[in-house]
Amino acid sequence: MSGTSPENITVRFAPSPTGRLHVGNACAALFNWLFAKKSGGRFMLRLDDTDDERSTAAFAAAIEEDLRWLGLRPDIFARQSDRLAAYEAAAGKLKAQGRLYPAYETAAELDRKRKRQMARGLPPVYDRAALALTDEDRAKLEAEGRKPHWRFRLDQVHTAFDDLVRGHVEVDGASLSDPVLIREDGRFLYTLPSVVDDIDFRITHVIRGSDHITNTGVQVQLIRALGAEPPAYAHYALLNGPDGKPLSKREDAERFSLVALRDAGYEPLALDALLARLGMPDTADACMPLEALAEAFDIARLGRADIRFDPADLARVNAACLHLMLYADAKPRLAALGCDLGEDFWNAVRPNLALFAEAADWARIVEGPVTPVIEDKAFAEAAAAALPPEPWDEATWGLWTGAVKQATGAKGKALFMPLRLALTGLPHGPELKNLLPLIGRKRAGARLHGLTD
Ligand code: GLU
Repeated sequence: MSGTSPENITVRFAPSPTGRLHVGNACAALFNWLFAKKSGGRFMLRLDDTDDERSTAAFAAAIEEDLRWLGLRPDIFARQSDRLAAYEAAAGKLKAQGRLYPAYETAAELDRKRKRQMARGLPPVYDRAALALTDEDRAKLEAEGRKPHWRFRLDQVHTAFDDLVRGHVEVDGASLSDPVLIREDGRFLYTLPSVVDDIDFRITHVIRGSDHITNTGVQVQLIRALGAEPPAYAHYALLNGPDGKPLSKREDAERFSLVALRDAGYEPLALDALLARLGMPDTADACMPLEALAEAFDIARLGRADIRFDPADLARVNAACLHLMLYADAKPRLAALGCDLGEDFWNAVRPNLALFAEAADWARIVEGPVTPVIEDKAFAEAAAAALPPEPWDEATWGLWTGAVKQATGAKGKALFMPLRLALTGLPHGPELKNLLPLIGRKRAGARLHGLTD
């Protein structure tokens, strides 16, 4: 694409509001956003909602909410249902050139044609019978009550483009059916509105999954037929599910919808970081702010081999993000959960978190009520008697356990585990040297005496 300076780089994320976004959609949104931010360009959200039977306002609102959750704010917004006049005008232009022609076959007739072709070992490509119709034939069909759908007459040539991920790509027009742009009921299918919008909004780079490569061959022809120059294209590898199969099934889309992941408690930044790393396979695993991810983004490093989304990876990156999260970022969320016990608390518990909400469990361990687990009463009482006077700090644990060891002769696990069980009621958890000052002498003493505080 010539004449593209950073200021006018514009990319788009173009979901149809016919369902909730899933991790595959998130890849498209994220890669486009990262590319725009890296290059100082603009990121457009376009709702491909010409299918008014399946598109809903609720799904449209949910898409905006899901993008907000991911942290990807659009700079430009458009919805295709507002732009039908532009698509009509483009259709008119194509009709005038003879590139858009009416065809009258019913779905059942087309199906029979395809079956016959396949039975004869031929590719099931539309035979263009409608191009042979005379005005008279058409008038007769219409008098019978048939309504035409409209097909784009492809040039039967190889259409080439330089893919920013895949290099030189060619799509053979002769191997494709002339695509239907307008249905019998007058509704536009995806292709023409998409192309008209890419032209009108001066989209400079179309970044999308490799399942769109054939579409690109068609769209390049269509853009040229409309008198415009195609944008640059980049087709990244598809995101598959944990079993390596495409995420197309309805259950997958639900299981890996952004709302399901959000409800499961995952951090959006963890998902962003994981998808960026999956997209660029030779990048190190990194949990960093979105701006830093954008800085590290390189479209040429997007991989070609399909990638695999595994929730186990998300869980791992999620924990890593929490372990690095600063108190300033955690504070409002701790407050919202009613468990902001201060910076020392956050620093004590964050290495133990798999999900943010678990901070509330540790706050309850600090503040009580805790049901102490005491197996050796005499030991616990000796430990209570050895509690040093306050003020307590990180050194208190060492002083205290040294004293308990001396008083009881216990050491190693036999020393530490009974103390942990008495103080927290649990056999695992954050380092006690950090928790002990937060629990404080009063609560520690009570718990060592077996009292639920
Ligand atoms: N609405 C299309 C989709 O979700 C957009 C594809 C594109 O042109 O990027 O597949």
